[in-house]
Amino acid sequence: MHEWALADAVIKSAKNVAKKENLKEITEVVIKIGEIQSIDEELFESALNEVMKKDRDNALFQNTEFICSIEKAKLKCNVCGHEWLFEENKKGLNDTETESMHFIPETAHVFMRCPECNSPDFEVSAGRGIWLDSIEGER
Ligand SMILES: [Zn+2]
Repeated sequence: MHEWALADAVIKSAKNVAKKENLKEITEVVIKIGEIQSIDEELFESALNEVMKKDRDNALFQNTEFICSIEKAKLKCNVCGHEWLFEENKKGLNDTETESMHFIPETAHVFMRCPECNSPDFEVSAGRGIWLDSIEGER
């Protein structure tokens, strides 16, 4: 599913970095996961391990540790420019609403308003998506 495609992409870009940097072995990969992201972290981590195992034809991933860290989501109002954290807004939401936001971030506009000017016109300025933060390895 979604998690597998992402894991595949992460492994591919890790390999690209290793090639560029002439690494023989990748020891650590730090992955940032946005707070507003429709992935299951546990599933993602096991997908990573599976994808890595399949990659038998290179020794890059013999001793790789994957570290996933969550980046807090930030929202920015398009009307007044106010920025706030998703978790501040979350307090006023019930579980179903929070859940639906996690999986379909676009629904944020239905449930949330700018705390300053009450506008529904805002964007997610941080904490969305998933990306490689850093890679360490041995040459
Ligand atoms: Zn505003």
